[in-house]
Amino acid sequence: MRRSVRRCYEETGYVYATGAMEIARRSGKERIARLASNENPFPPPPAVLDAAILALRGVNRYPAEEPRALLEALRKFHGEYHFAAGAGMDGVIETLIRLLVEPGQRVPVATPTFSFYGVAATGHGAEVVPVQRRADFSVDLEAFARAMEGAPLGFLCSPNNPTGNETTPREIARLLDGIDGVLFLDNAYVDFSDLDYRPLMEEHDNLVIGRTLSKIYALAGLRIGYAFLPGWLAEPYRRAQTPFAVSTVAAAAAEAALGEGEWAKGYRDHVRGWRERFVREIRLRVYPSGANFVLVDIAPRLSDDVMEALAHRGVVVRSCRSFPDLEDHYIRVSIGEDWENERLVREINLL
Ligand SMILES: *Cc1c(COP(=O)(O)O)cnc(C)c1O
Repeated sequence: MRRSVRRCYEETGYVYATGAMEIARRSGKERIARLASNENPFPPPPAVLDAAILALRGVNRYPAEEPRALLEALRKFHGEYHFAAGAGMDGVIETLIRLLVEPGQRVPVATPTFSFYGVAATGHGAEVVPVQRRADFSVDLEAFARAMEGAPLGFLCSPNNPTGNETTPREIARLLDGIDGVLFLDNAYVDFSDLDYRPLMEEHDNLVIGRTLSKIYALAGLRIGYAFLPGWLAEPYRRAQTPFAVSTVAAAAAEAALGEGEWAKGYRDHVRGWRERFVREIRLRVYPSGANFVLVDIAPRLSDDVMEALAHRGVVVRSCRSFPDLEDHYIRVSIGEDWENERLVREINLL
């Protein structure tokens, strides 16, 4: 038998931010500022850790078919919507593609953006159709609606990764009125913005909103995300999902995390304060952001060069070179702890 993998995985796939970390480890700095992956720099609050540890005692058993307590907690938190939980929002995205897209069908994606939509859709045999954002990274809604003609599912991220800008709920409503397919609206960073897209669920049955506990609730390593589904998708989603995708521990931690509103607000305020300071203090073009990171234009230098230069100084940021449809002179910088952010500002201004 020939040992071969499918062509879409021969060379490409998800791009991890690892190179800079290797360089930073060799920088001789005692502490490395890790600002590449939009993680919460703080460990989860004690009540969340306690809930996770308690849940560990039960891991000899499979989780329940549905993480009922978590779904109930989500309804308490957000209101009476239909929810699906998965192994990170990424897990939900994968299930949704499986559920809605036939191999060969088109899947529009507003680019530049988070790469996993394309990776997952391509892996499913779909044809990814990039719809390039304008120079200011706003979405060309007419072009996106045209690309959605005949497409079962499309992806739009707001606040967008890696650009940080937002598409307003009003614009999303207009887009939903003009398309037949389902829009996956990625709200991974919505907790850091002032916008609320949830009311759109009441008026539109072709909208899925993706959310994650990886960022605001500091659970990136546990892999837990969820989505708001229109009613007609709730039951089919259950049939399509990976069995037991949400671990007992992740479900318990997520449920506890939803009760930590004050803690989350503290991190949100930290992010919002530093977002403004980055704009004021970094002597380069910093784009306005609704997320826990900012995009920095480092022209005429190149993304990888600046990423490497900062890594040598003990600061790991994300080079944006691998984002399709984005020019090669941007880096993405997450908001970290005070000392990390202070070092970033100091070092980037010395470049
Ligand atoms: C981090 C991120 C996710 C993934 O979230 P997980 O729940 O950790 O899988 C999804 N979308 C965007 C835009 C992200 O940046």
